[in-house]
Amino acid sequence: MVGALLAGLALSISLARSGLAVTVIERAMEKRNGGTGLRLWGGMGESVQRRDGSGPRVPTIASIASAGVPGPEGWATVLRRLSAAAADEPGISIHYEIEVAQIGQDADSAWATDTTGTVHAADILLGADGHRSLVRRSVDPEHPDATYAGYAIWTGKAPYDAAPGWQEGYNYMNMITLPNGDGAMIVGETQTNDEPRRYFWQWYDPTSDDYLREAGAVVGKVSRYSLVNENIAGSKYDDIRRRAAHWPAPWDDIVRHSVERHNVIATPIAEYVPRRLARGRIAIIGDAAHVPSPMTGAGFDTGLGDAETLGELTSHGVIGEQGRKVLRAYEKQRLRTAQRMVRSGQGFGQNLLEGTNN
Ligand SMILES: Cc1cc2nc3c(=O)[nH]c(=O)nc-3n(C[C@H](O)[C@H](O)[C@H](O)COP(=O)(O)OP(=O)(O)OC[C@H]3O[C@@H](n4cnc5c(N)ncnc54)[C@H](O)[C@@H]3O)c2cc1C
Repeated sequence: MVGALLAGLALSISLARSGLAVTVIERAMEKRNGGTGLRLWGGMGESVQRRDGSGPRVPTIASIASAGVPGPEGWATVLRRLSAAAADEPGISIHYEIEVAQIGQDADSAWATDTTGTVHAADILLGADGHRSLVRRSVDPEHPDATYAGYAIWTGKAPYDAAPGWQEGYNYMNMITLPNGDGAMIVGETQTNDEPRRYFWQWYDPTSDDYLREAGAVVGKVSRYSLVNENIAGSKYDDIRRRAAHWPAPWDDIVRHSVERHNVIATPIAEYVPRRLARGRIAIIGDAAHVPSPMTGAGFDTGLGDAETLGELTSHGVIGEQGRKVLRAYEKQRLRTAQRMVRSGQGFGQNLLEGTNN
């Protein structure tokens, strides 16, 4: 596998539960901060028997991610839970700080060559390498790139006492359309029972295109990277603070808390509607396979579905022709779901941009 973040960790656990030996290559360091909040749809604490039949029942992967409490949750909390579960699986070996540079396959195997020239070969190769996926280039070389959707999402988090205007019972992923063509805002409250509760906010902003291009975060139709904390210009923070001052409480308080600390992530939104998910012995999952607007609140959840499906299918083995057969079946089962999920967010983006132009 390539990529060990949310979808990659979920997939590695799912494959190991089917008895596969899983090697994961990840270019980043093991310890990571970042992200703000996610809406988790499932995971009420259900348990299942491992597909390889070994050991006692184990929580479903959705229940690992949610710790049994679905709803808004901190991104770093979900990452920590999945990392701990993957570390407990003896069949998973994760190699951090190694970047994959090339992918290949022949009739019998698939391989990833890293930047030092080392070749890692396996029966199948799965890309969980995110919205700018390298593995996707091998799966659909004519349709390799996610496309910039024309707007940004600014996100941050704030402690529980940052918003005195917040009312009990008004606390569950509320969205408002902002005044002055400023876009839309969602504020959620994490449900976590193992860390202090806090707010996270997501501001869908259709007016920052010029700034994102100046900062190099968008080039042409490609969303290249997010801008994080001090990488966002002071003048842009001033602009956000000025605009947030016109919003009703508690939205203004929550945003101001993050802005004053320069603790904000700006992500140019990309979208990718897949035409295929697999080719031969290689397949893609998570944001490598489908990149929706975060407004769908479904990117991670769909990645979990991909991981569960691949785990189920690979429980019958992946050696020889079986590897190709499994990945063909995966594409057949998941392609429509992935396409529908991304398309469901595209209407929101168009409305957002039209609202600015009117
Ligand atoms: C603001 C925001 C809010 C969201 N809210 C929700 C929500 O409420 N609910 C929901 O379900 N989803 C939500 N999502 C979507 C969700 O966050 C993503 O779908 C999910 O995090 C994608 O995980 P991933 O593992 O597929 O990709 P990524 O997180 O991009 O991970 C890819 C990994 O691959 C590694 N990698 C890449 N290339 C290489 C290489 N060549 N060699 C080695 N390693 C490589 C990277 O270092 C990275 O670790 C949201 C997204 C955003 C931006």
